[in-house]
Amino acid sequence: MKFVTNKLQTSASPDTRLVDPLGRVMNYLRLAVTDRCNLRCQYCMPAEGIPLNSRDHILQFEEMEQLIQIFQNLGVNKLRITGGEPFVRKGLLEFLKRVNNFEGINSINITTNAVFIGDIISDLEQLKIGSLNISLDSLQKDRFFKITRRDEFEIVMENIDKAIKSTIPVKLNMVVLAGINDDEILSFTHLAKDNRIEVRFIEQMPFSGGPASESIISADQILNILRQQYPLLYEQNLPNSTARIFYNPGYKGTIGIIAGYSRTFCSSCTRLRITPEGMLKTCLYDRGAVNLKEMLRSGKTDLQIKDAIIMAVQNRAKDGFESQERSSQDYNVSMAQIGG
Ligand code: SAM
Ligand code: SF4
Repeated sequence: MKFVTNKLQTSASPDTRLVDPLGRVMNYLRLAVTDRCNLRCQYCMPAEGIPLNSRDHILQFEEMEQLIQIFQNLGVNKLRITGGEPFVRKGLLEFLKRVNNFEGINSINITTNAVFIGDIISDLEQLKIGSLNISLDSLQKDRFFKITRRDEFEIVMENIDKAIKSTIPVKLNMVVLAGINDDEILSFTHLAKDNRIEVRFIEQMPFSGGPASESIISADQILNILRQQYPLLYEQNLPNSTARIFYNPGYKGTIGIIAGYSRTFCSSCTRLRITPEGMLKTCLYDRGAVNLKEMLRSGKTDLQIKDAIIMAVQNRAKDGFESQERSSQDYNVSMAQIGG
């Protein structure tokens, strides 16, 4: 395999920014470091898992570091590490420690199912972690097993407890699944009463051959359920947040709702994604704009890669619906292959 080792050359001043046709400034990169996972969440993967890429087909850490450097020179200052399950990838912690030294990156965020984080919380505390987003779809052991198809409830709950007690800001992500866990919305919300965490409810997206749109519980429906129980709930508008954030008086934590399927937040979305296979996506719903891995491995210079990224952003769709229309998105793909 051939790595490009030239120092970053820049075609424009170092303060070049990635600006799309609607003036949105892309400063946030979500990097999926693997498509592998130790769980098999029903809404994300089939029971037998997804066809895996061979190791050669996914980006190496050196390649990811080279790309992050290019992106930081384009104004990206916030990183999210996701997957698959990021912590199944060997060497992740060392990679995170190296990226932590990148001056342009202000915050490293991680999305995880929490199975493997128990012993490394103190290592993570040393990094510039903006938030640790932990996916948990049920507070009931048998239901957790039914959803994830794995018996890891106890360790996940133990690790969530450790994370909450650490200095790292924690967000709990629950995908609301009709008829499966929608009766737990209030018990999840209650976790924000005494814990300084953000409990976030996510609309199910029809990836991995998921449900028809009419059986998805929408962000509005979730909000109605919350408002009935918490009439004093009030919203705080945050710029560039894909989550709508709510406060309930007397609660230490906050409540978020993410309309991933309704796509009501696109106008303020400043996210770019790199899939485990090294495709750059300018929207969750597109098929991929630039094959960065191919560019790296065919010896393209950083300057050429940078220009390809700038062009992809200049061609960014106005919202997820337009992206979907342009690319006729294949909903059989798993979020683990995209980097959810
Ligand atoms: N394995 C890690 C985890 O579960 O947190 C990171 C990868 S996972 C693909 C990232 C996020 O995508 C998780 O919060 C998961 O719940 C969410 N996700 C996966 N499939 C989804 C779907 N069909 N609809 C909505 N969210 C989904
Ligand atoms: Fe794995 Fe995360 Fe997908 Fe669940 S949601 S199967 S934990 S990648």
